[in-house]
Amino acid sequence: MQRISFRLFIGFFMLAAAIIAAGVGLYWKQVSDILQRDVKTHVAAASEEAAADFNRLIQNDQQILESIAITVEDTYPWTDSAQLTEFLQRQTRHNYFKLLGVITADGAVYLSSDRSFNPVFVADVMARTQETGHYLSVRQPDPADGKDVLVQSVALTRQGRPVGALFALQDPQRYRPLLALSAMGNRGYSLIIERSGAPVLGYRHPDFSNVFEELAAVEFDGKMTPYSLREEVAQGKHFMVGFRGKSGHRFLHFIPLKINGWYMLSALPTTYVENQAQHLTGLSLILFLSVFVIFCALIFYILHMRAYSNRQLFTTAFVDQLTGADNFNRMCEQFSSKLAGLKGQAALIIFDINKFKVINDLHGYERGNQVLQRVARVLRENVAPEECFCRSTADNFILLLKYTDRKSFRARLKALTTQLRRDCTVEDSCLMIDVAFGIYEVKENIPFYIMLDRAHLALENAKKMSFDKCQFYDESDRKRIVAEKQIENTMEAALDHGDFAVYLQPKCKFSDGQMRGAEALVRWNRLEQGLVKPDDFIPIFEKNGFILRLDMFILEEVVRLLAAWKVKGYQQVPIAVNFSRLHLNDTRYIPQMLRVVDKYDVPHHMIEVELTESVIFNNLDRAQNVINRLHRLGFSVAMDDFGSGYSSLNVLKSLQFDSIKLDKEFLSGFENNPHAHKVIEGAVSMIKSLGIEVVAEGVETQEQADFLRHTGCDLAQGYFFSRPLPAVRFEELLHKSAE
Ligand code: C2E
Ligand code: CA
Ligand code: CA
Repeated sequence: MQRISFRLFIGFFMLAAAIIAAGVGLYWKQVSDILQRDVKTHVAAASEEAAADFNRLIQNDQQILESIAITVEDTYPWTDSAQLTEFLQRQTRHNYFKLLGVITADGAVYLSSDRSFNPVFVADVMARTQETGHYLSVRQPDPADGKDVLVQSVALTRQGRPVGALFALQDPQRYRPLLALSAMGNRGYSLIIERSGAPVLGYRHPDFSNVFEELAAVEFDGKMTPYSLREEVAQGKHFMVGFRGKSGHRFLHFIPLKINGWYMLSALPTTYVENQAQHLTGLSLILFLSVFVIFCALIFYILHMRAYSNRQLFTTAFVDQLTGADNFNRMCEQFSSKLAGLKGQAALIIFDINKFKVINDLHGYERGNQVLQRVARVLRENVAPEECFCRSTADNFILLLKYTDRKSFRARLKALTTQLRRDCTVEDSCLMIDVAFGIYEVKENIPFYIMLDRAHLALENAKKMSFDKCQFYDESDRKRIVAEKQIENTMEAALDHGDFAVYLQPKCKFSDGQMRGAEALVRWNRLEQGLVKPDDFIPIFEKNGFILRLDMFILEEVVRLLAAWKVKGYQQVPIAVNFSRLHLNDTRYIPQMLRVVDKYDVPHHMIEVELTESVIFNNLDRAQNVINRLHRLGFSVAMDDFGSGYSSLNVLKSLQFDSIKLDKEFLSGFENNPHAHKVIEGAVSMIKSLGIEVVAEGVETQEQADFLRHTGCDLAQGYFFSRPLPAVRFEELLHKSAE
């Protein structure tokens, strides 16, 4: 169970870890995507703004130049060169130009400072300005000092006719702030390029001559190729593309500018984005992990607590608190696996301390508990790991042991008994325990509880033994019990359906052979078994008390017969009814009897009550009381089975019987036994001397009859005279004798 939990835990852990890993991965991807998108828009916005600023600045400068040009045009044809130069100088200072110059149509040059220009440069500026009315050059070294400058110019006209050009030298540093993508931690930059890819202006001085050549070997995102890139630019498109180059992934934003067909190209390394994403995911990973760790700790704690409470539960559920041995539940739980482990070579034993209650009563519970603890200890020492045992109830232990053959098994139990007697004896008291074993040798594949039942049955038998209280289960015991159970199951219905019948056995006078009475004997008419004799069911009815009802039923049948015979005018003979010993303890006995007899108005002296000797002997006082009351009511009382059990002359002395029935055992083996003759003679004469009538039971032969007659015995009951007869047959007998 715990292993399953652990496996579950590991499985769960792995799953959780996998989910978290996947989650982190997904999160990273999401974050970097979002960031990338974010940065893209950000770069786009920033570079677009830079481009707009650049356009504005250029336009602004152009406007300034144009407004200066208006004044310059007014002073055409610039006869006063000093005045023009001075004007240019003022405007230069005013507008932060490095230099301002006017080129006339005939090639003359007026400058704001005292220097000269190469005629080729002058002609080039003049030509380009005339072409578009306005010109902005690429970055080029100033011939005067070699520093980079930009040339910007506007045309000068007079009445619609070109008269020259006004140009300014600008420090490219002026545009530099526009070309740094400062928002990206200065990791991005912009570049102004021509459509051909030649750099015009850069944040840093570009160290290449063509952007496209720079990008010829890179791998673009999506479908873009170096060729298509060039195409896009040639067509003046505005777009953004990512690529992977030597220094990682970057974005490029191509924005066409309003001047010279130039482009502003912004570049930003994606590592910036990746770093950001990594940073973010790192943080969230830490967060995730801490949650995960806390979560795991929690799970671990819960599992631990569960295992702990399972252990507790196990102890409560499966351990016997007194002895620390397994309890019955545990036995049930592990029985099949243990049995399988013994490969069918096993015996189930129930073991019981004889009269354990007495130990408790005599020596106190403390001692009793001590004994049980010691027994458990001895069993623990004697039970192999593949075997098992438990304490099922108070002094009941169940063992499942390896079994090979009866002889060695008995020897093992004998040794165990010896050890138990030795080790479980409580020192300071003379307490010696005695144990009994009921053994079921496992032969069939039957449920545990049935095996237990069988061992129990064997134990019951073992307990009855005076020595060798170690009994094996016997199938016939079970059959007997099943039969008993069947009897118990059907007895009530049988009584209701009238399946119990009265048979009557005549009692005849020895002197003349005439019938003087009869004994009522019950028979059970069971469908499948036919007529069943009382010995098969009376002991069971005595155990379960049903005999009380059956006896009353027989009495009623007898009384009914007597009443009927009276009506029919037959000879009246007293009928003896057997009453179980159970009635003696039942206060309802005599009232019930009276009710039955009086219901049919039968004279009490017609009923003889037969009580067996053993019953009377065991409850002398009570018997005396009952017999006296019966006598007072007019019933006669016979002692049945005299001489069969613990005959005591004391019984004869104390109780007043009307007759005594010699047990049929007196006559067994009587023929060639002179001692038997003497005993019978003695018994008969003693009884007769007390004035009590003697009835001999079980008279089967002429010889017996002759001998008994000679002893002075009064009445005979036996097959020699008549077998017990069904009521109808008995009636015929009465009818005949009446005639
Ligand atoms: P029991 O009271 O001693 O009855 C006499 C038994 O001896 C009867 O057995 C009868 O059939 C048998 N018997 C009679 N003559 C001879 C003979 O010559 N030889 C031999 N071997 N046996 C003879 P049954 O009817 O089987 O009754 C057995 C016992 O069952 C009775 O012994 C009596 O104790 C008890 N019983 C019978 N009916 C009742 C009843 O209605 N109530 C109670 N409580 N016990 C009854
Ligand atoms: Ca009897
Ligand atoms: Ca008898």
